[in-house]
Amino acid sequence: MTVALVLATRNAHKVEELRRILGPDLDGIDLVSYEGPEPVENGATFEENALIKARAAAANGRAAIADDSGIVVDALGGAPGIHSARYAGTRDDADNVALVLANLGAESNRAAHFVCAAALVLPDGTEFVRRGEWHGSILEHPSGHGGFGYDPIFQPDGLDLSAAELTADEKNAISHRALAFRALMPIVRSELLR
Ligand code: IMP
Repeated sequence: MTVALVLATRNAHKVEELRRILGPDLDGIDLVSYEGPEPVENGATFEENALIKARAAAANGRAAIADDSGIVVDALGGAPGIHSARYAGTRDDADNVALVLANLGAESNRAAHFVCAAALVLPDGTEFVRRGEWHGSILEHPSGHGGFGYDPIFQPDGLDLSAAELTADEKNAISHRALAFRALMPIVRSELLR
């Protein structure tokens, strides 16, 4: 017997990362992709947008999880923030990276952090949301070919590499997404498998 849990994302990179992050936490849970219409992500915070996505995916009476994530750059007043996916207006990772580097220019304060809000919505409408943050700084030039999005210009605190130079397992041990879902999954398991 497995319980279905809808995953409300079409981002193939995120689905792959999540399957690896969740691993054993998915015992007894059948993670299925959400195929319905994409909701308008008009929340003001990562948490609100994660809940908007999870609510849409749970609308057919099944439990759903979703995440909303992005990078917050201190010297850019928190941008790209919740607009990370479309910062440059094209939804293209290389364009987004180039725009962050251009906007930061020679700024010496390179502090930044990734944020992930992970949400669970149950069929009865009960909602949970947990947040993970991964702190570091913005490099002057992209480096590495792993990961996705802003990984090539993000140097995690304490490491001498970009996030795109980490193996998938190394990234998944410490990332914002891993932290958020590791906090959410005990709730998922206790609510779904009781
Ligand atoms: P979302 O699909 O609305 O959560 O948008 C997330 C966007 O934030 C992605 O398209 C990336 O640009 C960026 N992002 C989120 N998490 C990561 C990550 O782990 N590495 C690099 N970029 C990320």
